[in-house]
Amino acid sequence: MSGHQLFEHSLNARLQGRIERQLQRKRRQLESPTGPEVVVDGKQLLSFCSNDYLGLANHPDVVAAFKRGLDEYGAGSGASHLVTGHTAAHTALEEELAAFTGRSRALLFSSGYMANVGVLTTLLDDKDQVFQDKLNHASLLDGGLFCGANFRRYPHKDMKRLDTMMDGAGTEGLRMIVSDGVFSMDGDVAPLGQLLKIADRHRAVTMIDDAHGFGCLGKQGGGLIEAAQERGAIIDETRLPILMCTLGKALGTAGAFVAGSEALIESLIQFCRPYIYTTAMPAAVAVATRQSLQLVKTEGWRREHLRSHVQRFRKGAAELSLPLLDSPTQIQIVMLGTPERALAASSALEQKGILVAAIRPPTVPPGTSRLRITFSAAHTGQQVDQLLSALSELKLPPLPSS
Ligand SMILES: *Cc1c(COP(=O)(O)O)cnc(C)c1O
Repeated sequence: MSGHQLFEHSLNARLQGRIERQLQRKRRQLESPTGPEVVVDGKQLLSFCSNDYLGLANHPDVVAAFKRGLDEYGAGSGASHLVTGHTAAHTALEEELAAFTGRSRALLFSSGYMANVGVLTTLLDDKDQVFQDKLNHASLLDGGLFCGANFRRYPHKDMKRLDTMMDGAGTEGLRMIVSDGVFSMDGDVAPLGQLLKIADRHRAVTMIDDAHGFGCLGKQGGGLIEAAQERGAIIDETRLPILMCTLGKALGTAGAFVAGSEALIESLIQFCRPYIYTTAMPAAVAVATRQSLQLVKTEGWRREHLRSHVQRFRKGAAELSLPLLDSPTQIQIVMLGTPERALAASSALEQKGILVAAIRPPTVPPGTSRLRITFSAAHTGQQVDQLLSALSELKLPPLPSS
């Protein structure tokens, strides 16, 4: 075999393994904007698998702002932030995000994946230690691997284990605890208060990725931290030094930011390779995001609407005895176990005109394939009922008790 044939052969062997285990991924093709109703591969479907939680991705004001940004700055930024890609629109958005999250400064990244990998690889090296929840987002786990630090993962939300793990670890180097705020594939919320106490006790720093809390939790949409502060906690940047949030979910645009102290942000600007060596996000994205941030802050009804969908769904699902995970957020999980069951449920729903993604390993641990249902403020209560009625017709057996 030639070099090229060997190459193709090994690629195909690996792909075949995926297909055999029913783990093959396929991209659906949208022919409409994201929203409750989408056109997918030529079919109109009612969708419950977008992270556009507040319905801002196709909001007329956000779209109009994007167009204004294009008129003012053109389509591309032309260079990285440190060369000539950084505009007044980026600065204004960073200042607004810093003020909104109560941090000294904020720094924009082109994606959340890059922000997480960038933060961890910039702040940690082989002299340091990082402790992460096992169910953290892949970008945090990858950052933990890439940075070369001693990397330990604790069982999901198991604060006792984290505490003993840290007791057993040396006191060498920087110690960092990293957690999703709202877990992306489970919808449940990190025990922030306990986590910060453990960090204090071990003189560790904490990083929270609030990709799914930001915009959705808290009276003003400030996320997990605002929600905790409403209950009397004080979670300023001395207690929680590293906050990361994404802009492609509730805010409906694209990109991410890291917020924290002057020294943290300046360190990232100087040393963070995924920040430095990439083209700046288009300025128009920043202009659009400033508009959506405004809507997040002022239109609290979107969060109330979202919460009412979650309540309506959970009540209906309990009546149907669906195997739901215990999630208080807009991410709701029907646990099915095997990839086959998850795929069968997803395609049965699709037959009924409803789009819900089957989530399988390696995105989630083996044996925990599931339907991941996400609600948006743009859904109507009637659409939630439609989903429940379609789920009831699936006749899903309850989870085997273990
Ligand atoms: C989506 C997500 C990311 C990645 O953000 P992108 O901007 O999509 O790259 C990071 N962390 C969590 C928890 C996420 O859900």
